[in-house]
Formats: sequence, structure tokens, C-alpha cells
Amino acid sequence: MLSLDYLLSNINNIDGVGNKTAKLFKKKNINTVFDLILTLPKDFVDRRNLTKINELQIGKIQTINVNVVKYSFPRIRNLPNRVICKDDTGEIDCIFFNSFEGYIRKILPLTTNVTISGKINYFRKKYQIINPTYVSNDMNSIKKVFSTYSLTEGLTEKKYLKIINNVLKRIPNLKEWHDENILKKFNNISWKDSLLELHSPQNSDKNAPFLKRLIFDEIMSTFLINSNIRKAVKKNKKNRKYFDSIPLEKIKKKINFELTNDQNKALEEINKDLKSNQKMFRLLQGDVGSGKTIVALITSLNVVRSNYQVGFMAPTEILAKQHYDLAKNLFGKTVNMSLLTGKTEYKERKKILNDIKDNKINILIGTHSLFQEKIKFYNLGLIIIDEQHKFGVKQRKKLSDKGGNNCDVLVMSATPIPRTMIMTVFGDMDTSIIKHKPKNRKDIKTYSKIDTKIDEVISFVRKKINTGNQVFWVCPLIEESKKIDHQSSILRYEKLRKQFKDKIGLLHGSLEKNEKDKILQKFLNKKIDILVSTTVIEVGIDFPNANVIVIEDANKFGLSQLHQLRGRVGRGYKESYCILMFKSNLSENAKKRINILKKTNDGFKISEEDMKLRGYGDLLGFKQSGIPSFRLADPVLHEDLFLLAEKEIKRIELENQNLENYLPLIKMYDRADILNDIV
Ligand code: ADP
Ligand code: MG
Repeated sequence: MLSLDYLLSNINNIDGVGNKTAKLFKKKNINTVFDLILTLPKDFVDRRNLTKINELQIGKIQTINVNVVKYSFPRIRNLPNRVICKDDTGEIDCIFFNSFEGYIRKILPLTTNVTISGKINYFRKKYQIINPTYVSNDMNSIKKVFSTYSLTEGLTEKKYLKIINNVLKRIPNLKEWHDENILKKFNNISWKDSLLELHSPQNSDKNAPFLKRLIFDEIMSTFLINSNIRKAVKKNKKNRKYFDSIPLEKIKKKINFELTNDQNKALEEINKDLKSNQKMFRLLQGDVGSGKTIVALITSLNVVRSNYQVGFMAPTEILAKQHYDLAKNLFGKTVNMSLLTGKTEYKERKKILNDIKDNKINILIGTHSLFQEKIKFYNLGLIIIDEQHKFGVKQRKKLSDKGGNNCDVLVMSATPIPRTMIMTVFGDMDTSIIKHKPKNRKDIKTYSKIDTKIDEVISFVRKKINTGNQVFWVCPLIEESKKIDHQSSILRYEKLRKQFKDKIGLLHGSLEKNEKDKILQKFLNKKIDILVSTTVIEVGIDFPNANVIVIEDANKFGLSQLHQLRGRVGRGYKESYCILMFKSNLSENAKKRINILKKTNDGFKISEEDMKLRGYGDLLGFKQSGIPSFRLADPVLHEDLFLLAEKEIKRIELENQNLENYLPLIKMYDRADILNDIV
């Protein structure tokens, strides 16, 4: 009987799989025995029906019963060996490339009756089968339905089946990990039986209990890992933070709007975490423009008031700078703040590092460099990570550990993903959601325009800036090359400048930091009206006065990305416009995307549609993110199973159930070795 360790071991531990075959499997992303088991058959072939030679159909896989009549073994290199067979209706040639004479004589002895199955060809007025898949004198071993798998050169169907069947025969009976109430929902089918069913041919029922069980297993393993991380984070007791509501009142007076109910609720949830003796590990979720920044800044102030430092991490320098400026504005001189990015000068950086260590800085705002550097905080009390959705569970956990004993963690995400995805991707965190945008916020009117009508777009833009508005102009994204992107933005800029003179600025990735800041500042101060840019300022930037965005080659962007881009406008109280430009010959998919954007401003709806169009894995690059990608489960298709798993996890946590039973399950799916890292 096989052990769990064997299942998790390298594929070349299987008998008959040498290094050469293992390499072929690796090409198919099958590295361990378990990978092999979880790789679904792609189809099945029915070899049950016997066909007479005169009724064979060319191109089909068929099975025949024949008598071996004659060999033809030419002594010339590269000519195949041939075996002539017949039944009472006609003759057929079995052609063997690369097979030895001795082997052929053994499987096809002269004058014997054999069963042969393979793809039927026709050559020089005669039927033939080239390298028959199956040859046997035992008819019943061939007259079956066979599963077929995705193959690669060198890995034949026969070989693959032999290997997988060999493994399936020896799958261990692992002790059931699920509670009996759960198991009932899947007709009490065991893990082992489910796997056997998974590979047995003709099991295409998408609702079969065995399949649901395996999908549920996969979801549960991810959720259990998340739950474990949450527990690990909370195990460490921290000092409670103490603060009053004076900062909040002060800030409320400074901003010219009322906090929304959702913002207030998020703040309450966060404050409760800060004041508790368990570490906060919380996700603040809200669509673009929903007002997360102010919540983060108020939280920062509360932490500073409790005599702790704050590290605030933004995804881009521009965004870091904007947060920094806003915070300066709100807090005045009462709080010491610094900005640290990859481009901070050496001398300045050195001073900041010293000041942070000496507690002379209360809030440090910056980019990634904030936590990669050897920064020693005096007493870090809160890490805020803004707009990151490409962080894996592992990285988040590391960050939390690095922060030290008293460090709370707040992650902000504008990726409006469906709940099943939140549960998966951020399941290790508690969540606060800002669902409703600030009142008075109007939907962004979205239009599409073919690029030959660019003159109409330009005159629309002119009308808008003549009435005091500002415009973003996003340039085509050309392939993956950043360099060409810059060129295209420069070209567009040159053309538009002829019309708009010095009212226009250009921003792209290869500009110097100072240059960038200058241009952004000019745009903010309304010295320029049009900002031509690449996608460098994709997310988060706040320009309340900008209310028009033109996106060229909109068809080249994904739905969610377009939604994020569009979110650059519509942040003030004015009516806002988004113009999606495209070239003729739009693909069906691109048309769909553009129509969805025209129809709705709801980020959640858009991301759901995006998932339907692209599959959940592609959504904003989750695949590259270290976030577990499922093999069987799909957050759109199997919502019910995700919800069931969530309920089950809650029960397990509530009853403080020992996880020992689940260990095999977790181990099997824990491909990133997350568990090893956290326990
Ligand atoms: P995001 O959630 O995308 O980070 P921001 O925090 O940048 O959004 O907020 C977007 C804009 O909405 C900002 O100009 C901000 O000042 C404004 N804002 C935030 N909260 C409110 C509110 N309660 N009422 C009106 N405007 C608000
Ligand atoms: Mg933001």
C-alpha cells in the first residue's frame, strides 16, 4: 500500500517512470505522484465494438479481430516493418515504425488470432494501422472504454495508462478527514473511491458526488491553511493600543465631506482590532474611489496617538507621494512623517533610517522598499499596504511577522472580486468592506468610439476643458514592451500638443522622478488640462477635478484593468466621462468587455463578468501571484461548495477541533509549502 509520502513524492518514484519519462510529465506540469492523480482524463475512447475489415472507417479508432498471415521485414533502413493480417472480409497491414522484429514476432505470432485496436488509415488501396495502440490475444483486455489523457511526444497513450493505472491500483485508504455531516452531502463517497471514479471513463457528470467531494476537498485544504495562518497570527498577544476619538473629530473638521456609513463601520472594526490584544490582520476592501485612503489615514493617526509608528506602503511612487501629501495636509505638524521610495537620495535615506530607529518619525510612507530595506522601526505598531492584490498569503504572513510583536496589519484592495475569491485569496484575513461609494458620486458615463473618429473625441475634450475640467488620455498599450509604450505616448502627446499647446503634459515610466512629480503637480494645480500617459498611473491616484478619461486601444485591456483605469475619474462631484477608443475589427470578446463597461459601474459585477470571460485564474494576474490556483475548483462555478467550506471552517474554528485528521488533505494540496512555513 502506498503512503502519503509516496503520493507527495517525485513522479519518478513510480515503478516504470525513469528520468526520461519524468521529464515528459514535467512538461505537462505533473511533478509529483499526486499531480498525476489529479490530472483529469481529457476524454475517453470506446474500443468495445469489433469491426469487420470491410466496414472499417478511415480516421477512426477501431478494434478488429484478425489472423496473422505474413511478415514483411525489409532490410532497408527507415522502411517500417509490416505484418499482414486478415479476417473473413479482407486484409489489413499493421505497420511498425521503430519496433524490433523479435518484439513483433512475440506480440503477433504467425497464424494466431489477435485483437488489435488503433487508428485506421488507408494507403495504396489497403487499410492499415500504424503502431497499433493495443495488440493482445486476450480480447477482453482490449474491448473496453479507455480514459485518454493529454499526451506529449514520447509519452504514448499506452504508457500513460499503464502508469496511471499502476498508481490508481495502489492509492492508500487514508483515514476520512471530513465530518460525517459533510460526508453525507457527497453520498458518503470516500476520497479514494472519488479518485478512482475521477479516472474511470465516461464519468462526465459535472454534478457527480465524487467530483463535488474532490472539489470540496481542494477548497477545504486552502481554507484550512488560511484558517491556520489566521490562528498563528492571533496566537501572538500584542499590547493593546489606547487612543481617544479626538483625532477623528479633528480630521472630520478638516475634510469637506462626511464619512459614509461603510467608512465608519470599517473604522469601528479596525479600532476594535487595534484596541484588542490580538494582532490585527485585516483586509479593507472597496472599489476604486470608495474612499479607503481616509480610513487608513485616520487609523494611522490613532496608532500614532497610541505611541506607535506606522509604515504605509503604496504600490507606486506617485501614489506614495499622494498619500504623503494628503497626510501632511490633514495632520499638519502634529505628526512627523517621511517619504521613502526607491529613488530617495542616499543622504536623505540614511537620515530617514536613523530617524525611524530613533522614533523621530511617526509615519513612514513609501513603496516596496519600505519593507525590503533593513529598516529598523523603533516601535512599529501598524503596517498598511495599499492597493496590493498580487501578494501571496506567504508574503503577507512574512510581513506581519517582520513587523514585530505589536504590529497590526491592514491591507487595502480595490480589486472588487466576488466573495468566493475573497475567501480564497484573503481567507487568512478578517475583512471590512466599503460597499457603497460616497453619496452624490455619479456613475461614469462610458462611451466607445472607433479610432477613425478621433477628431470627435478631440473636440469633446476641448469642450470639456473649456468649461474648467481636466482630462486623462491613456495611450495604447503596445505589446508587452514598455519602451514602445513610451514611444506611442510621446507620439500621441506630440500630435495633441499641436492642438492644445502648453495645456498638455506627458507622463510615462521612463521619466525622472522629479520630472514626473512636476507634471503631476502641474496637473493637480490645474496648470495643465490634459495628462497624456501610459498606464503608469493605473490605480489609486486621486484627481478630483479630472472628469474625462480617454483610453486608446481599449480592446487590449482586460475588463478589470479598464475598470481600474476608469476609476481615475469620477472621484469628485462632477459628471464624469470615459471614452473607450478601439480599432475596427473588434473580437467578440472585446465587444463584450466594452459593452459590460458601458452598462455598469459596479466593480463587483464587472469582475464577475471578467471571471466568466477569462477564467478566475487570469483575473488581475492571480496566477502569477503565488495565490493557490485550483485544479478542480472554480470560484464561479462552485460557489455553493465554497460557501459550504466557509461554514465548515467556522464550525471547526468554533469547536476548536483538532486538525490532525485534515493533515493529509492539507499536505496534499499545499503546493507552496505554506504550512511548513507557518507552523
Ligand atoms: P480609494 O478607495 O480608491 O483609495 P480614495 O480614498 O482615493 O479611494 O478616495 C477617492 C476620493 O473620494 C477622494 O477624493 C476622497 O477625498 C473622496 N472621498 C473619500 N471619502 C469620501 C466621502 N465620505 N464623501 C465624499 N468624498 C469622499
Ligand atoms: Mg486608493
